[in-house]
Amino acid sequence: MYLTKLEIQGFKTFAKKTSLSFLPPQADRSPITAVVGPNGSGKSNLADAIRWVLGEQSLKLLRGKKSEDVIFSGSEGKSRAGFAEVSLSLNNEDGAMPIDYSEVTITRRLFRDGSSEYLLNDSKVRLNDIQLLLAQANVGQRSYSVVGQGMIDHILVSTPEERKAFFDDATGVKPYQIKRHNAILKLKKTHANLSDVEMLLREIEPRLRSLKRQANRLEKRGAIEESLHLLESQYYGSQWWELVDNLEIVKKGFDEADKTITLERRELNALEKKVDAVETVDEKPDTGLVALQTQYRELQKKHRTIRDEHFQTEKEIELTRVRAQSNWAPLPLIRIVEQVGAIVKGLMGLKKIKDVTELHSEVEAVLKHSTDLNKKLQRPNPEDIKPDPKLVNKLKGLSKDEKKIVIGLEKLEGQIDSYATKEKTERTELIEMQKLLREKQRQIHLLENRRGTQEIDLARYEERQGALLREMDEFMKERAVEVRSNRPENSPGEDVYPEIQRLRYKLELIGGIDPEIVKEFEQTNERFNFLDGQVKDLHKALRSTEKVIVELDEQIEKQSKKVFNKINKEFEKYFKMLFGGGSCRLVKLTREEIPDENESEGVSPDRAFSDTGEAERDKEDVIETKINKHKDPVIGVDIQATPPGKRLKALNLLSGGERALTSIALISAIMAVNPSPFVVLDEVDAALDEANTVRFAGILSELSKNSQFVIITHNRATMEQADVLYGVTMGDQGISNLLSVHLEDVANGGTARR
Ligand code: ATP
Repeated sequence: MYLTKLEIQGFKTFAKKTSLSFLPPQADRSPITAVVGPNGSGKSNLADAIRWVLGEQSLKLLRGKKSEDVIFSGSEGKSRAGFAEVSLSLNNEDGAMPIDYSEVTITRRLFRDGSSEYLLNDSKVRLNDIQLLLAQANVGQRSYSVVGQGMIDHILVSTPEERKAFFDDATGVKPYQIKRHNAILKLKKTHANLSDVEMLLREIEPRLRSLKRQANRLEKRGAIEESLHLLESQYYGSQWWELVDNLEIVKKGFDEADKTITLERRELNALEKKVDAVETVDEKPDTGLVALQTQYRELQKKHRTIRDEHFQTEKEIELTRVRAQSNWAPLPLIRIVEQVGAIVKGLMGLKKIKDVTELHSEVEAVLKHSTDLNKKLQRPNPEDIKPDPKLVNKLKGLSKDEKKIVIGLEKLEGQIDSYATKEKTERTELIEMQKLLREKQRQIHLLENRRGTQEIDLARYEERQGALLREMDEFMKERAVEVRSNRPENSPGEDVYPEIQRLRYKLELIGGIDPEIVKEFEQTNERFNFLDGQVKDLHKALRSTEKVIVELDEQIEKQSKKVFNKINKEFEKYFKMLFGGGSCRLVKLTREEIPDENESEGVSPDRAFSDTGEAERDKEDVIETKINKHKDPVIGVDIQATPPGKRLKALNLLSGGERALTSIALISAIMAVNPSPFVVLDEVDAALDEANTVRFAGILSELSKNSQFVIITHNRATMEQADVLYGVTMGDQGISNLLSVHLEDVANGGTARR
């Protein structure tokens, strides 16, 4: 992978669209590009542009205070730019970036309103995507791929933790760290989702429990209802059909009696006519006998009327009994509970009574209360029902009257009979006929009596049938029709009625339950199971992400250890080469080994991301503690360097040049072990003396075998290593111009001659 082109527009002093091309690598080395020009012409702005397009977020490293400071701010002759845009094109034929493009152009754009965007081959992407891609191609964005002006010894003056971040870049663990960081974000998100779902579950659970209870009660209710319906069908069925049968029998008996009476009446009429005819033929009828017979007939008529009235009254009394029984309704459960409660209270009260007479009367009272309740609970017996006293009195009066009439009739019959004996000889035939007539009348009277009883029975059954019909319709609703159309197989009789009542009470106890509850229960249960499944899935996801993190931590540790040791060796080699001797060493530090004063400014290796605002760090976070268990305990790196002939190890005691040499040795070591595809070095050779500049040029030439170098320099020896030279000039309008130059065109001090 190598740089092919840099395009800048509106970025710092590069107000106009400026393009810089790089030479492709040759067989043995990558061509070195040197950028030269006078102070303030904009050379470092070029390095800043590369740093910026690679996603740099640190305003300090970009030498600004606000993010919009990178946009061309305008000059006397040129108005300010509305946006800054930098595009860096890279050849990716070797697939260093795991992406399906042989040429990759990364673009960063920033507008004055603060909005910004990243593009990858003209498609919008997230900064994180670019960071991961570059890290995978081994481009150390923050550390050594772009070494800014005066930043060469930055690594020496930074804290051990900052150095650790630098070495994470250098040892190539950054891609794993980015993946780890993303996994942690995912882990946190999963945790948040998990607690959301768990909260929902907690909310649903009590409702589900209550619904379940109700659904169970409904189920129980269903079972009771089923038994009740069966018993009701059998009970009412047998009652109904028994009535139907009885009615039929009584009706038949009634009809027959009616028919016989009609026949008998017809005969009676014929006989009466016959008697009348004989009496008319007799010219001198006995007035005394006629009077007796007339009296007899009238009394008989009266007797009939009174008897009819007697039957009607009897019927009415019977019907009131039947009605009273069918109108009986069981006492509501709540009233029963009340009454039983009162009885129990009464019984408890008995214990305290010492006086026997008082105890006696109280026992009587409780007993009466219990008997009353018991009576109320039983279906009334028709015999116990007291009919209307008015009716009873009426019936009594009628019976008395009837008795009187019967006596009168018997008396008249006697008188008629004695007359008959007297006149026997003369009027035998007529008298016999009259006797026959009376006999017939008596018979009819008996038949009418029987028919009257049947009529009462009929009315009683019909009344009962009506009442049963109403009761069935009330309790059985539409099931009643079925029961009335088919005779039941079982006829359990009256005995099951208490069980029917018991089941009805039970239903009353359970109370009414909305059938919609079952639907709601099923829906809620389904939702609960779904959420429960989600919790399990999320736990699974958590475990697998945690596993990924552990694996990444292992990879990070392994890779870091291997490369770090190699860098350490190369560092010593280049250090000795540049210093002509001496010694140096990189030392890994754990939390315990880092001096306390640094603790407060402690920067974790994930710091690189905290600047991006993407990592929300919370040290108290339990998840973090858990996932950091397997993390590399090394959190800092110390650099020890002792130039030849000296004993000191403290870096701050080194001279400016020594610091630059140590840094160059370190960067060269990293380049040798883990070469970055390209490196931008901005005046890193500024502090070197002539001899060291030559040595540095030699190292540069050696390292260019593996990396593409872009060097900003004022140093001729360095320029001489370059394959291509660009000159940056600045015109009157404060705008940088870029031009290709040759070494011979460069005057002393790096000024390009046109
Ligand atoms: P030296 O050789 O001294 O290091 P240089 O060529 O590296 O110089 P730069 O640091 O690249 O110079 O350029 C600095 C110049 O860029 C300054 O004059 C500064 O005012 C100008 N500059 C920085 N930001 C902007 C901006 N947003 N708009 C216009 N000019 C800017």
